Amino acid sequence: MSRFAEPMARLIDELKKLPGIGSKNAQRLAFHILRSSEADAEALAGAVRDVKAKLHLCSVCNNITDVDPCVYCSSATRNPRVVCVVEEPTNIAAIEKTRHYNGSYHVLHGSLSPLHGVGPEHLRLESLTRRVDAGEVDEVIIATNPTVEGEATAIYISNTVRRPNLKVTRIATGIPAGSDIEYADEVTMTKAMEGRREL
Ligand SMILES: [Zn+2]
Repeated sequence: MSRFAEPMARLIDELKKLPGIGSKNAQRLAFHILRSSEADAEALAGAVRDVKAKLHLCSVCNNITDVDPCVYCSSATRNPRVVCVVEEPTNIAAIEKTRHYNGSYHVLHGSLSPLHGVGPEHLRLESLTRRVDAGEVDEVIIATNPTVEGEATAIYISNTVRRPNLKVTRIATGIPAGSDIEYADEVTMTKAMEGRREL
């Protein structure tokens, strides 16, 4: 029998399903929610509901969008044959602010982290391999973060998408190692894109 009342045990079970959340963390979060105000708990529940009801992932690139395909994938002025792979939808803004990139995107929604139980099966790669297999891509630019996880992910992707006639490049690390591309200024990000090397 569980040592928690049923609603508490249920909340802990749901939180445990989140990536990187083990039993201990799930219990801590559940108790935090229990102690928080009615309004805060309701706001959390409402935000979880809305994110599923109002937003979805672009069927082409996995960007978070309220229209499908997203604005980048449906733009007539962008080159769909060059695909920049990023970890999170927020990273797209970091690339966009260079104003030098005119290709399309692919969002992984994470990076490999064996220590936190995040394996290749948790990365959203299928739609990218589908685009590559259909011959729709000339270059894959891997713009994962310059962290241990980001580098491991870059190697995994380059091995997974490698095909004849497909160029696979990695952005240069003018970006400090261990940081997040989201915080790179536009000059650094532009240099990182220009200095990309083939993998
Ligand atoms: Zn898209």
